[in-house]
Amino acid sequence: MAFLRCRRDPCGVICLVLTYFSVFYADYVVIQYVLIPAYADSVWGMLHGSLFNLILLLLLACHSKAVFSDPGMVPLPDTALDFSDLRSQSSRMNERGCEGWTVCSRCETYRPPRAHHCRVCQRCIRRMDHHCPWINNCVGELNQKYFIQFLFYTGVASLYSMVLVVWAWVWRIRNEREGDADKEGDESPSKHLIVAHYLILLVESVLFGVFVMVIFYDQLISIITDETPIEQMKNRLMIRDRSSSFSSSPSSASPQQPPHHLPHATRKPKLALLREVFGRGSVFCWLLPLHSNPPSAGGIIYSALPDYDV
Ligand SMILES: [Zn+2]
Ligand SMILES: [Zn+2]
Repeated sequence: MAFLRCRRDPCGVICLVLTYFSVFYADYVVIQYVLIPAYADSVWGMLHGSLFNLILLLLLACHSKAVFSDPGMVPLPDTALDFSDLRSQSSRMNERGCEGWTVCSRCETYRPPRAHHCRVCQRCIRRMDHHCPWINNCVGELNQKYFIQFLFYTGVASLYSMVLVVWAWVWRIRNEREGDADKEGDESPSKHLIVAHYLILLVESVLFGVFVMVIFYDQLISIITDETPIEQMKNRLMIRDRSSSFSSSPSSASPQQPPHHLPHATRKPKLALLREVFGRGSVFCWLLPLHSNPPSAGGIIYSALPDYDV
């Protein structure tokens, strides 16, 4: 049900349609107005066409996986849980090694450490990064890999189409100067139409390219610092609150919630953190939208109650 509610988000549906339209438009312009006229008699046209379509295929495959994969939804309990003795239950949970588990008042269930509630999906998501309308889904523990791969291939496709369009434009201008424009025949599309397509694709490529590269960078930073944007924000607010309460009354500064990240000394190596997201396979496998069990998710059986040892 939560998936359906999330899928009905109008902003997410518009962004999905826009994504598919942009990809197919880029492919149409590259083939119809770049490769066919400029590489008609050359094997390079076939090579560029195959490579560009392979990148788009991988882009769409990663996008589909990010859209349709479970981001790591915390299951709802079969029966209503009683939170009246929350304090004693929390201490019991800590004794069992389930420290850090919290209660979501909206889902009315226990959730593991680093899970957060998404207002769009209306569910708690394990290691939730953010809700992304471009995949109409949350980015969480189980689909972050596919989301980052989608960003990567979108960046590569944007750069590739920019290079191809600029090259074709230069080729066209050079041909016109040399007086070879008539070679294309009367049935070829007008110059204005071609230039309009080139401009639209260039703007699309620059906008999407810059946008995804910024998010790609943010995602990598959040992985190697082991801190999602939500945790960054919470930690910042907590530090601000503590410093303000400490400055107003030093004696009343009490420890509230634990910080959402481990102390720097106990943090894992960057490669281990990357493997948690991309899997244990080789770096080459990191580029493919294949299922891999991240170390932290391996063997975990989701339950409404925190009954496993962390
Ligand atoms: Zn929740
Ligand atoms: Zn969400």
